[in-house]
Amino acid sequence: MQSQLTCEQVSALLSFYVEDKLSKKLSQYVKEHLESCPECMQKYMKMQNMLNKFIDIQTQEINNPYTTKQYEDFKSNLSAYIDNELDDFQNIKIKKIAISNPLARQDLENIYTFKKLLHNSFEKTKSECKYDYSKNIIAQLQYENSDEKQIDSFYKIVMGFFAMITFIVAGIITMLYF
Ligand SMILES: [Zn+2]
Repeated sequence: MQSQLTCEQVSALLSFYVEDKLSKKLSQYVKEHLESCPECMQKYMKMQNMLNKFIDIQTQEINNPYTTKQYEDFKSNLSAYIDNELDDFQNIKIKKIAISNPLARQDLENIYTFKKLLHNSFEKTKSECKYDYSKNIIAQLQYENSDEKQIDSFYKIVMGFFAMITFIVAGIITMLYF
């Protein structure tokens, strides 16, 4: 049996086909085309995958008791809250949501940690303005990663010191006894 549809037609119908919104006859035509056309089949598989993922996310959100309208409000006001741009009533509302909703609390903690990090690095830059900040960071990283090298140079200094003392003592002994 010859396929009734062209690739363009199938492409146009595919999203309806995936969502099962075609008539039985049309659906059958698309199915037949897909079975004989690897290119359209691939498109169909991609679309089906995408739809499955979307459904997964949707069910996750439905099943999560903390993703509520209230939480959405919280999310949209969060940065204003952090920046002290809300009035007292809104501030209290945010705090109440954060107390009752673990998801919101986590968000709040995350954004505070981030702000703190940002603030800390800014303060550091300010207090060490004589130094190139990035160089400083790199130096610190190298310092943390090179304990072994440090021990190495420490030993060199100690050995050098001993060698010096040995020479001096040997020199004194030579002077005194020979
Ligand atoms: Zn095709």
